[in-house]
Amino acid sequence: MAQSYIKKADLSGQISATISQKYDLFGYFHVVNAQSCMFFIDLHTHQFSTESPQLAIKSIDVKVPNEALLHAELEGSQPNQYFSLGLHPWYINPTTIEQDWACLQRLAVHPKVLMIGETGLDRLVATDWTFQIQVFRQHIALAQSLQKPLIIHCVRSFPEIIQCKKMVKNNVSWIIHGFNSNEQIMKQLLDKQFFISVGTAVLQSQSHIARLLPAMPIEQLFLETDDKNCTISSIFAKVATIRGIDIEFLQEKIFDNFKKNIHLCPQAASIV
Ligand SMILES: [Zn+2]
Repeated sequence: MAQSYIKKADLSGQISATISQKYDLFGYFHVVNAQSCMFFIDLHTHQFSTESPQLAIKSIDVKVPNEALLHAELEGSQPNQYFSLGLHPWYINPTTIEQDWACLQRLAVHPKVLMIGETGLDRLVATDWTFQIQVFRQHIALAQSLQKPLIIHCVRSFPEIIQCKKMVKNNVSWIIHGFNSNEQIMKQLLDKQFFISVGTAVLQSQSHIARLLPAMPIEQLFLETDDKNCTISSIFAKVATIRGIDIEFLQEKIFDNFKKNIHLCPQAASIV
């Protein structure tokens, strides 16, 4: 096991060197695929890790004063580092929303931004509920217009999120991040074609998600570390054990889900 991991890491190093001159997104996946060198996809993190080989999407809450810094971070990122940008329901503010929203619109078109969010609804935060819904709907429209999936933070508001999805005609993927709720909610989400991203809760064997995972369609699954001090490989290892499959097979399946649902814009290489 240790040996095969080192081999993969070396292959990944060669690939990175080959493509480090430009963000050749399709080239990256083509090369990785051709050599069947699978890697860990961390769909939602707040900090890039040095663990290799992996592809990670860092979620950043956009605020106007940070625009130049954020832009520089997008431009300076490594070929396997991507982003999702949004206005988190914890931090939205009616007095700055217009400027923050305009900033998000400017940055979200960048080819390194693969998803919109995290956005969503949270019953436990003090932010005005109507305001949360209004901002969430703006994110839905932005995701649709840019054809980028939504990464969703949802606390005690699954009925409302599901209702929003029913009401909008959209064709981008909606991904609930950090899911750890009950079976009934999971079934509703899966029926409505949501994707479920699983994080560190799965490491606790008594958690909802650890118990529900064996029955979950792998085609609707993603994995993440979020803001936790944990490696994405440990999440993959735990999920592979629970499902009774090899880590390599799980990597392939998650990569398939990624390719099918997270559209890399074709002009990316020429824009940057
Ligand atoms: Zn998060």
